[in-house]
Amino acid sequence: MNTESEAGAHTKLASMGLRCTAAARQLLLLFEQAGQELLTHPQINERLHEQRLDINRVTLYRLLDRFVTAGMIERVVDQDRVARYGWVAQKDCPAVAPSLPPRFECQCCRRQFRMPELSQVCDALLLVFAAWSAQGHRAVCAEVAVRGVCARCIQR
Ligand SMILES: [Zn+2]
Repeated sequence: MNTESEAGAHTKLASMGLRCTAAARQLLLLFEQAGQELLTHPQINERLHEQRLDINRVTLYRLLDRFVTAGMIERVVDQDRVARYGWVAQKDCPAVAPSLPPRFECQCCRRQFRMPELSQVCDALLLVFAAWSAQGHRAVCAEVAVRGVCARCIQR
């Protein structure tokens, strides 16, 4: 890691009230590299391993929890109850209704990622929110999940 990204990581962690440990910096960098992809525990471990980085399991779980609590990343649980982690991606969506950008799930490689460019979908979700509220229900979060085969798997 060069000193510039090191300083950036320090600032980012500090602004979230997190301690700037070596493990925290490594995990932050991993999420930066993952971009819009949502990662499972095994995927996170695999990537740390590929980069010859070693964060023990307990530390990793604790760090992920801290990142989630700090609002830096979010934890998404899919229908198979698998937890995935990725950047909190609600920048383009109004804070009143926590609607998330569409999520794509690949049926082959099981990767998942979001598409923040599709922010119009958030507007549509707001209408859905309003409709539930009008009937007296309390909507908490809405998102669109698309299942299919990702570009990488199609090319294989
Ligand atoms: Zn795929």
